[in-house]
Amino acid sequence: MQRRRRAKPATRPLSRVASHFTREGTPKTPYRTEAEARSSAQLAWTLNRAELDAYRCDYCHQWHIGKRFRED
Ligand SMILES: [Zn+2]
Repeated sequence: MQRRRRAKPATRPLSRVASHFTREGTPKTPYRTEAEARSSAQLAWTLNRAELDAYRCDYCHQWHIGKRFRED
């Protein structure tokens, strides 16, 4: 019997859940509702003029804020 040794391709886990982590690799703050995330994004705008979007995370199913992902 022949066994397949390559069970999993060597992909970086971060690439699958980029929406869940910051660029530094730490998990983003989760918000339970879109409203919470949006008010936090608004605060960031007020304080830092940081333009952030609220989005639902596929990884933890909560909301995060961050820069809008570019679609290419
Ligand atoms: Zn998440």
